Amino acid sequence: CGIVAYIGQKQAYPIIINGLKRLEYRGYDSAGIALLNNQQDLNIYKRKGKVSNLEEFATGKDISGTIGIGHTRWATHGEPNDVNAHPHFSENGDLALIHNGIIENYDSLKHELLKAGYTFRSETDTEVLVHLIDDIQKKTDVSFAESVRLALEQVVGAYAIVVISKNNPNRLVAARKSSPLVVGIGTEGDFYLASDATPIVEYTKDVVYLNDMEIAIVDRTEGLKVYNINSSEEKIPYIQQLELQ
Ligand code: GLU
Repeated sequence: CGIVAYIGQKQAYPIIINGLKRLEYRGYDSAGIALLNNQQDLNIYKRKGKVSNLEEFATGKDISGTIGIGHTRWATHGEPNDVNAHPHFSENGDLALIHNGIIENYDSLKHELLKAGYTFRSETDTEVLVHLIDDIQKKTDVSFAESVRLALEQVVGAYAIVVISKNNPNRLVAARKSSPLVVGIGTEGDFYLASDATPIVEYTKDVVYLNDMEIAIVDRTEGLKVYNINSSEEKIPYIQQLELQ
């Protein structure tokens, strides 16, 4: 339902929580966040109910980190509860992702992953995607972004996703098909990702609306790169100016 992610020099937690609150108008049943701290721990907190429940739950826990992803869920597959809330994560805890939309072929993908020995924690369609990326990473030596792209080539359905990886603390990988995703280009080499521009407007007016079938990398040193999901052809991002209120 709602997506907010951040990478930069600032603390990610307050930016993501405030962003998720700005998206509350869309309606949702649960909320969650994944933050990568300076010790490279990927801390994940998820709660059924309001964003304020999530904040309460995270109070006193490690919420440090300058890179993170957050989600408000509107359940389509699996009841609203703490486990089904996003982010979903790989068995070794190295990868986490948030997803808006529906993976239509999740059943057949899940069947293959179960055969390959994966266990599933949640009842969501989304969880197949994180195990699929993990499986590709184990079988090949492609980059983080390429593993996400190869996974998406197998997916039928609608999605906006953002993926975070413990082993790649300087980048986020995002993609979209039939579900909106906006990249905000910050003024300090930082980046914002969101399902609409409302969480971004207070930080920057420079945005790129991803097109269908595009995958984006936001990297602390390399900046924003956009590719086509099916061809891996590099695209030139079109930067638009938001009207600031
Ligand atoms: N289909 C996913 C789920 O049920 C994502 C729903 C959403 O867009 O929030 O978990």
